[in-house]
Amino acid sequence: MSDISLADFHLTMQVLDHLDAGIVILDKNYNVYAWNTFMQAYSGISTDQIMGKPLFDVVENLPESWLKNKISSTFKLRMRSFSAWEDRPWVFKFSNFSPISGGADFMYQNMTLTPLKSLTGEYTHICLTITDVTDIAKNKNHLRESNEQLTHLSITDRLTQLYNRGHWENCLVEEFEHYQQMHQPMTLVMFDIDHFKNVNDTYGHVAGDAVIKTIADIVRKAKRQSDIAGRYGGEEFGVILPGTTADMTSYFTERLRKKVERANVVVDGKTINVTISLGVCQLHPGITNYESWLEQTDSALYESKNKGRNQTTIMQANGKFTSLATNVKNINEFNRNIG
Ligand code: GH3
Ligand code: MG
Ligand code: MG
Repeated sequence: MSDISLADFHLTMQVLDHLDAGIVILDKNYNVYAWNTFMQAYSGISTDQIMGKPLFDVVENLPESWLKNKISSTFKLRMRSFSAWEDRPWVFKFSNFSPISGGADFMYQNMTLTPLKSLTGEYTHICLTITDVTDIAKNKNHLRESNEQLTHLSITDRLTQLYNRGHWENCLVEEFEHYQQMHQPMTLVMFDIDHFKNVNDTYGHVAGDAVIKTIADIVRKAKRQSDIAGRYGGEEFGVILPGTTADMTSYFTERLRKKVERANVVVDGKTINVTISLGVCQLHPGITNYESWLEQTDSALYESKNKGRNQTTIMQANGKFTSLATNVKNINEFNRNIG
């Protein structure tokens, strides 16, 4: 190296050493050609230990095959390439000392790969630039978690952890629109706790809440993953059953009804038993908006109330009610089968 280029190199190295980023220059055989102070400080590997040696022999825990591929494609394309922390949180596994990043035990990194030309114009080396993005990553992760939490809170009913009315109705609109396009069977179930005022009056509001919560737990267990359950009002619930006819829905409503009937809610040593009344309505082309789908299901529910409660009524497409008892030849047989 001539005096002038040595002086240039000396100046350049000072700049590289004061950069708040890791600089690693490699030749095509991955031998280390430059390793700045940042890399020394975080890796604990001095320049003397690594210069001229193959990177993968000296640095442990590198994603070797991934990095080799990335380097080789950067050489091939003769263009800069990039690795973002979102896809790969770190390339060099460094512990984190940064006070901002409290909580993160390693350094999140972005990495830029720049192919370097020699004086002959050939691409002979590659420069890896490592930047510490731990504070950005932590903030972004924190923001994402907060947003997820907020979303969860905004769609969830606090007492029951089912969907709240607003979100459940949004789902209902979505499923209704889906039906308009796909015409797959789709059934709505609404149910309401029988004589719930008595529960509050006899056992108190807190006990009433415990009953509502227990019923929500029963619904959660009785429904399929794809069924959409929500708390529609105080003690009224709705369940959307996509891909299900009203007849098929009977298996769900009767299992639910019987489970509620059998459930003992114990509050302060007192056992509370309740029943529910249900309304069912399968969507058909005669129902032109989701509101009337809800209304028709609700009217079936009130038919169940009028007929004596603790039962299910189906609103048929012809506008007539069918009680489940007449819909199924032998209700006792049916009840035995649904267990
Ligand atoms: P029905 O069989 O006709 O449904 O009789 P009901 O007594 O259940 O009548 P209704 O549905 O009109 O009454 C519901 C009662 O539920 C009124 C209200 O005080 C009570 N309620 C509504 N929301 C809550 C709640 O979140 N917690 C408790 N404990 N009670 C509630
Ligand atoms: Mg009620
Ligand atoms: Mg009610």
